Amino acid sequence: MKQVVITGNRQYAIVDRPEPKARGEFVVVKVHATPLCTEYKAYRDNQGRLIEFLGHEAAGEVVEVAQPGRVKVGDRVAVMPQAGCGRCPLCLAGDYIHCQHSPDILKATGNAAGVSTYAQYLVAQDWLLVPIPDGVSYDHGGMACCGLGPTFGAMQRMNVNAFDTVLVTGLGPVGLGAVIGAVYRGARVIGVEGYPYRAALAKALGAEAVIDPADAQALAKIRDLTGGAGADKAIDCSGSPAAQRLMLDAARRRGQVAFVGEAGDLTLRVSDDTIRKGITLHGVWHYNLADAPKIMQVIRESSALLDRFITHTLPMNRVQDAWELQLAGMCGKIVLHPWQ
Ligand SMILES: [Zn+2]
Ligand SMILES: [Zn+2]
Repeated sequence: MKQVVITGNRQYAIVDRPEPKARGEFVVVKVHATPLCTEYKAYRDNQGRLIEFLGHEAAGEVVEVAQPGRVKVGDRVAVMPQAGCGRCPLCLAGDYIHCQHSPDILKATGNAAGVSTYAQYLVAQDWLLVPIPDGVSYDHGGMACCGLGPTFGAMQRMNVNAFDTVLVTGLGPVGLGAVIGAVYRGARVIGVEGYPYRAALAKALGAEAVIDPADAQALAKIRDLTGGAGADKAIDCSGSPAAQRLMLDAARRRGQVAFVGEAGDLTLRVSDDTIRKGITLHGVWHYNLADAPKIMQVIRESSALLDRFITHTLPMNRVQDAWELQLAGMCGKIVLHPWQ
C-alpha cells in the first residue's frame, strides 16, 4: 500500500509498505478520506528525521476483522483519534481519549503498518470506529474527527445553545469547525482571526463578526458586540497565549471558556481571571464517545456548510500542496484521498 512519510525539512515521500493485518480487536480500514490536522508542523519543522506515522483522522470502510466485534466488513466508519484500554473507568464512561492505559498500536498489532492515517489502509480498535450514516460521504464523515470533534466536545461540556454568544479565537480548521457547530446550536458567533482568507470563510459559515487579533481594540470590540458584558462561552482553537489571554479577558463574568488548541504555558491571574470572575475553565481534547450519534447528526444536517468548510480535496500524492496551503493559511479543512 501507499503511505506518506516525511523525510526532511519540507520534504516528503510516498513509499510502499506492507498492508496491515487485523488482530484481536484491531480491524483493518481501507482509508477513503484523510482529513489533515497539524502534521504540517512536522513537515515545516523537521530537521531530517524520518517521520513514518502521520495523522490521526480518517474515514473509510472496514475490510478485515479478526474476531466478532462492533463492526463488520463493509461498514463505513469514521476513525476516532488515539486508542484506549477499553476497561478503565474513563474508557467505560466514553472518555477514552483521556485513558491512562492506552495500548501501543504497534505492539498490539505486531506490525508497523497501519498506524498512519496518511495511508491506504490503517488498523484501529473496533469500538473506536463510529458508523457514518447512509447518505453522508466519507469526506463529511471524517469531520467527526478534529474538524468538528474537539469543539463539539467543548460545546457539549459548556451546553452551548441559542441563548449564547460564543467567542472562537483562532479560525483554522478546528476553529472554523467550531463556527459550524455553534451555528448548528443556534448560538451567535464572534471569531478572532488574523488570516483574511479564514476570517472571510468564518463569516461565510455563519460567524457574525470576525476580529483581527492584531487590532489594539480587539477586546473593546468584543465587549461592544456583547453589550459590555463579554462572551457567554468561549473556545480557544489557536493555542496562542495572546489569543488565550484575549479569550479569558473577553469572557463574561460567570462565563465558561474551553481550551482546545494545543499549547504550552499561559499566565493565569487567579484572582482576576477565575475567582473574581467566577469563570469555569475546561480542557477539551475530544468528545465523549456516547455523543458520536449527535456529532453525526450535526454532520448530516450541516452538509452545505461542510462543503464550504472543506476547501480542498486532493489526491494523496499532492500532500505537499496541501501542507503549503495550510502554512499559508489559504484553506479551511483539507482532505486527502489515498486511492486517487
Ligand atoms: Zn482506558
Ligand atoms: Zn486532528
